[in-house]
Formats: sequence, C-alpha cells, structure tokens
Amino acid sequence: MIHEHKHILPFFIPHLGCPHQCVFCNQHHVSGESGYPKAEDIEKAIHDWEEESLPEIAFYGGSFSGLPLDWQRYFLTPAFAALKKKKISGIRISTRPDYINASILLFLRSMGVGTIELGVQSLDDEVLERSGRGHRAQDVYQAISLLKEKGFQIGVQLMPGLPGDNREKCLRGAREISRLGPDLARIYPTLVLKETPLHKLFLEGKYHPLSLDEAVGISRDMLAVFCLSGVHVIRIGLQPTREIQTGVQVAAGPFHPAFGELVESALAREQIQMMVKGFLARETAAQIVLWVSPRDCSIIAGQHRRNMEFLKKFFHLDRIKIMGRSDLERGTVGISRMDGDGPDWTISQNQFLREFVALMAN
Ligand code: SF4
Repeated sequence: MIHEHKHILPFFIPHLGCPHQCVFCNQHHVSGESGYPKAEDIEKAIHDWEEESLPEIAFYGGSFSGLPLDWQRYFLTPAFAALKKKKISGIRISTRPDYINASILLFLRSMGVGTIELGVQSLDDEVLERSGRGHRAQDVYQAISLLKEKGFQIGVQLMPGLPGDNREKCLRGAREISRLGPDLARIYPTLVLKETPLHKLFLEGKYHPLSLDEAVGISRDMLAVFCLSGVHVIRIGLQPTREIQTGVQVAAGPFHPAFGELVESALAREQIQMMVKGFLARETAAQIVLWVSPRDCSIIAGQHRRNMEFLKKFFHLDRIKIMGRSDLERGTVGISRMDGDGPDWTISQNQFLREFVALMAN
C-alpha cells in the first residue's frame, strides 16, 4: 500500500544546479513553479503552517547537492534554524546519484538534512544512456552505500517507460533496489512533457510511451516487490498540478489524476482473485462476501467497482458484497459465503505478496 507523506512542506528549485538535460525533464513544468524560493518565503511558510503535526521541509527539483555550497547554505539556513527550534520535523532534499560524495554528505548533515531522495530512474545502463541521464547504474550503488554508511534516510525515484525500457528491466530494477534497502520509493511512469527532447522523439515516432494499462501493470508489480521487501512507496504517478491536470503540459503518456489508486486497486484485484479462486475450489457458491478493513473497502472495490465487475464475470458469480471489519488488519482479505457472519479464511497482504512476487519471477 502507498504510505503517502502528508506533512511535507515542499519548495521547488527547478533545474538549478543541473547542467544535464534528461530527455523527459522540464523541471519548470513538473514543479508548476518557475521561480526560486527566497529565505523569507521559507521562513514565512514555516511560520504559517497550521496543521498540528510539524512539517518536514523538502527541496525538490533540480539537483540540490550540485548547487554551489553558498546556494545550498542559503536555502538550508532558515530550515535548519527552524529545525533547531523544533518548528519542523526534518529536512529532505532530492538530487542525482552522481552528486553524492562524502564531503557533500558531511556538509548536508551539518545543515540538518536527514533524508536524501535520489533520482535513480532506472538501473539499466542502456536506458540511462538513451534518457540522457549522464550517470550509470554504478553511481546509484555507490550513492546508496555511502548514504547508508552515513546514516541518512534514503528515497529513490524510478521512472518506468523511459526510452529502451521494458517490463523485465523495470522489475529487475525494483528487485535490485529492494536488495539495496532504501527507506522510501516513488514510482513515476514516464510522461511526455511538452518542450522536452522526449516530446521531439515522440513527434518523430521514435518514442512510444506506455499505455495507461501497461503503466498500471508495471507499477503494480514494482509496488508488490517494494511492499514485500519493506520499502515504503510514498507516491505513484505525478502529482496532478493544475497545468498537468488540464493537459497543458502533458503531450502523451499514461497520465491519470488518480494513478496511484488505480495501481493499488490493480494489486488488490490480484489478491482477491487469488482468494476467490482458492475458495471456489473448495466450495460451490454464486454469492460471496469479501471481508476487509473498513479503510480498504474502496481500494478492494476498485474505481467504479471495476474489480467487482471483473470478478463477477471471471468467476460467474451473481453477487459480491464487501464488508468492513475493524478487527482485520489493513491489507488482509477474508472470504465467506453470503450467509457467513465472518470470514471463513483470510490472506494477509504479506502472504499474498510472497506468492504473487514468486509467481512473477517464473
Ligand atoms: S538531472 Fe534532474 S533536473 Fe537535471 S535534467 Fe535530469 S531530471 Fe532534470
């Protein structure tokens, strides 16, 4: 399941510090902002934070640790002052894997940074090269190992569907990343943003984006691999900013405003399909009840109850009812006949994931 971080106070530093031009990147468009925050903007945003839980300050976009040190110090100083006064819960930055070294980590640590998110995108060298990343998979291994050694919390961002990519490469990458053991992951299927090199390749017919179904399927399998290995997936699919939402910036690709929900529901469908199949192998029933934690009801049903319609058709069932039970853990699904007053048997999310990921490998 997705563990979205609700208390991030983000500042976007588009393209600043980055001499590269990855084919997919137009940081101005992704962030929805084109200016850089001033120290007083950061102080004001912290002061104006109204929620009960403290915010975590995040500097996203660009390649933070590639900025001149004076710039980094400029942005971090107000955040670090607030951290020392316990007005924020932490500071995180995003950067490239090849902009990580021991001395920069020493500096970032001295300015209060606790979490570093790496733009990994892929662990396949051909994909990295064709995407104009300017670094290799080896840089990712080195960066993660150094970040672990220095005790940072580590996030990784992956982009299925880049030029030269395919499902096998994505899953191999997800397994490798899981083995390296970061704390957090984001999965952003590649979108073709206007005015990027990828847009040009697309218009010339040299790049074909993933369809929505393909992107959901690959992201579902990556989510399963990460969940099983304890890597918290904090976001799947780009945040729908106003421009992206209205299609102003996206020229092509698998954009959906509730992409993460589609992926979670697709994984839930695999779980209930496995469950119903097992149940019907032992029982004859045309009507069944699925028992879940009340917070999982909508994910299990799927958007517009698509999972239920699929199951009814697939197993020739007349009726499927979803019942919330507060004594069931999130991710656990139970099943019974329609007249049952509780589940006859249950599958926890981990039991399901072990089986699902093992099947995927075959
Ligand atoms: S390294 Fe990051 S900021 Fe620089 S071009 Fe690539 S995606 Fe954009």
